[in-house]
Amino acid sequence: MPERRNIEGMYVFRCRRCHADLTGPLREVALPDEDDAPLPFELPEGQDECPQRMDVGCFAFDPPPLQAQHLVPTGRGAIRIPAFTKVDGVLVNQGDAPGLARVTLRGRLNGCCGLDGCDGPNLQCRFCTAEVAVERSDCWTPQQVTFVARAVEFVLAPPAEHGEATRG
Ligand SMILES: [Zn+2]
Repeated sequence: MPERRNIEGMYVFRCRRCHADLTGPLREVALPDEDDAPLPFELPEGQDECPQRMDVGCFAFDPPPLQAQHLVPTGRGAIRIPAFTKVDGVLVNQGDAPGLARVTLRGRLNGCCGLDGCDGPNLQCRFCTAEVAVERSDCWTPQQVTFVARAVEFVLAPPAEHGEATRG
């Protein structure tokens, strides 16, 4: 498999339907191995908060695309993820996605201590209610948010936004 460089720069992920910002500026990193992700039920006694699988300020394609040049610009200066790349999702830290809200379909919100994410998208765009992501936050799952690849687009963050939280 050819080695792939990360795409350069900071990117904001947006809803592909209404183009609203869903994240702050994020940079691409290698996909953290799911087998290494901390699980709440495995935490040592006395540690309440389980770390997210993805670090703050970062994202990763899941599974990683083979070649960065497959990520082609669309109109409005945005980039979308074409279906042929086989990228199903984009992994982010839950704290980096303030543009998301839980869906109202109860069948999507199953879980034990949190959401297990096993029933399809359980997070929607806060602005237009498009279903855009899957939250996993149960005691036996990695703690993560994964955008549905075809439901989002991303844009290069303006330099002024680097290191700052998203609008709102
Ligand atoms: Zn939207």
